[in-house]
Amino acid sequence: MKKVGAKKLLPELAKLLKQKFPRQLAQYKGELNKLARDPLVQEQFLAHLSEISKMISNPRFRSGFFRAYLRIYRRKINKDGRHGSIIMEITKHCNQQCQHCYSRAEFKKNMKDAVVKRIVKLARNNYKHVFVTGGEPTLDRRVLAIAKNNPDILFFMFTNGGPINRSYAAKLSALGNLIPVLSVDGGAQKRHDYFKGQGSYLQVQRAIKILNAARIPWGYLSMVTNLNAREVLSKKFVKIMKKKGAILARYLEYIPVGAQALPKLVPTAKTYYLMEKRKAQIIKNSEIYMQETAQKRCSGLIFFDVDGNIKCCPFFHYAKHNILGGDIERLIKDSTLDWCHAQYPGECPIYADPEGFKKYLLGKQWTSTVSFNERNSITPRLAKVMSRNYRSFLKIKSARGL
Ligand code: SF4
Ligand code: SF4
Repeated sequence: MKKVGAKKLLPELAKLLKQKFPRQLAQYKGELNKLARDPLVQEQFLAHLSEISKMISNPRFRSGFFRAYLRIYRRKINKDGRHGSIIMEITKHCNQQCQHCYSRAEFKKNMKDAVVKRIVKLARNNYKHVFVTGGEPTLDRRVLAIAKNNPDILFFMFTNGGPINRSYAAKLSALGNLIPVLSVDGGAQKRHDYFKGQGSYLQVQRAIKILNAARIPWGYLSMVTNLNAREVLSKKFVKIMKKKGAILARYLEYIPVGAQALPKLVPTAKTYYLMEKRKAQIIKNSEIYMQETAQKRCSGLIFFDVDGNIKCCPFFHYAKHNILGGDIERLIKDSTLDWCHAQYPGECPIYADPEGFKKYLLGKQWTSTVSFNERNSITPRLAKVMSRNYRSFLKIKSARGL
């Protein structure tokens, strides 16, 4: 009979494990032996472990990354880019009142435990990582318990940093698989506080110091608007954030949804171009680690809102299905198919044609997930401005490239 599993670990992988992950090598021997049956999987695992050992110095977090990638490769989860992860809006509670908030933070609600349970189960079997968002997720103590009970999943938590104190950092430090991603919307106090409220810049800087002191890896997220684009996308800003200790970055464009739409923040064509160009440069030149999320056409994200509705974009408050409504994989597939079949120019349907896209999805039985006011924050006039700006951006991009 043919013997299965006779292969050995690739010499480079065995060497790296011995040098940088000796405890894991002993602890996960059986799992690693199973991995050894597939050289291609081993090569990918090796690439990720090399990257992790360069980025993460804290042994607990190295171990957290190791466990997560071992699960990913053992389960052959090979979805890439934006399809590799899911997003969970665990709470709507928040300690801030940012003027560009897309999440309507005053809406006080927590995700039901049954919903959280289904999402985590789904993630374990099918996805690489989970992004936890809100509201302000650090205000929901279940996040720590969820990370503790699921040590083989990496959770990236978007936070404004305000509630991160020494005691919270000690809890993060004990876990090793919950990574804070701090909102930083300006290089200086004035700009950041303009968006996120007085005192918030000092709070986030304090959080950075506390996380660094506890050797907790962290990243940053900037909302790109017409007012801060040049600043937060500049090489200088990325360099400063890296110097402060950030290991990863993420940029999101402002979309005028939420309790109020702010037309002056909507990116012009030039701002949009700058954002796309800089994102591509940051990745190409490895200025800081940033996941590649650009696509020819948006194929949607998998975002579970606080009520368990399956949204395909955090900023678009409409959904067709709820996670509690049946076979979850079928529901995600159905939502994604609707999303992908829309007709519009460029990548982002919300910028390209906000009105037409909404009409198209309403015709496919998608319904609003939020209040009347929020649903109408993109007025027909604003929709025209967004669409005009976006189409001009596409022209600039096609003439100059990125
Ligand atoms: S943007 Fe985030 S931190 Fe600001 S109010 Fe909204 S949920 Fe809270
Ligand atoms: S609709 Fe636009 S903002 Fe939303 S995920 Fe797609 S590209 Fe991003």
